[in-house]
Amino acid sequence: MKIICIGRNYHAHIKELGNEVPAEPVFFTKPDTALLIRNRPFYYPDFSSDIHYEAELVLKICKVGKNIQPQFAHTYFDKIGIGIDFTARDIQDRAKKSGLPWFRAKGFDQSAPISPFLPKSDFSDLKNISFSLLLNGEVVQKGNTSLMIYPFDEIIAEASKFVTLRTGDLIFTGTPAGVGPVKIGDLLEGYMEEHLMLKCSIK
Ligand code: MG
Repeated sequence: MKIICIGRNYHAHIKELGNEVPAEPVFFTKPDTALLIRNRPFYYPDFSSDIHYEAELVLKICKVGKNIQPQFAHTYFDKIGIGIDFTARDIQDRAKKSGLPWFRAKGFDQSAPISPFLPKSDFSDLKNISFSLLLNGEVVQKGNTSLMIYPFDEIIAEASKFVTLRTGDLIFTGTPAGVGPVKIGDLLEGYMEEHLMLKCSIK
């Protein structure tokens, strides 16, 4: 399986990092070794001193697709979860300055904690799903799919122009404002609507 991520998909987050609103979706990937499941702890890596959390809704692809039209995109995912796109911001800032790839900043081991997934049918309106992230009990990020620049269907359509989507692939759909650093001893908790879905302690 592969993990496809979209960057810069919420205006307030673009603003907080001083980036430009993209003319087309910004994609990057994480390898499958980035996955961190079952609320296992995240071990702070020694190659970075500025690891940031980015809470994001995650789609699970349920059938093979290529060149998917937006109006059919909703049939290609059946489950939604919440994940954290851990980012080595110091490494990413260096890469951005020199126009180099983000692989080391985004693709490292354990950089993609994910929750269990809920069936898409649990949500009455996919265009109005709220989610949030708590850091040591305080809300630091609040998102809602109504605020996405590129909604689920457009992300799937655009990504599938370039890569074949396969059953089990995951799509991280972008983070709202409020990203920030973690330190050893922190606890992150991810909510979808009112459900606590994900816990991740930093060790
Ligand atoms: Mg992200």
